[in-house]
Amino acid sequence: MPPREVLAMPVYDYRCRVCGHEFSRFWRTIQRAQEAPTPECPLCGQGLTERVVSQVTLLGDLGGLTPNERAAKRAQEEKQAAITPREQIRKFQSAKKK
Ligand SMILES: [Zn+2]
Repeated sequence: MPPREVLAMPVYDYRCRVCGHEFSRFWRTIQRAQEAPTPECPLCGQGLTERVVSQVTLLGDLGGLTPNERAAKRAQEEKQAAITPREQIRKFQSAKKK
């Protein structure tokens, strides 16, 4: 069972200091996003980017729900996440038999 933090994928916004282009980047964990150097600008390829701290979003952010609703939704998401790989394995196995 992975830690719950893995389910909340942080999206950080960055701004290029060279051309001013703003872009978003997914990270698997908040810790990784904070430890890694800022990514290169996808437009001009320069590494001179800075994080736009005010616009951090969490994918799967369940704001506005009560704790019970939140727990139910988390459980549902975990259930779905657990089902998908097994279905893929089944597909893979049935394709292999042919
Ligand atoms: Zn740029």
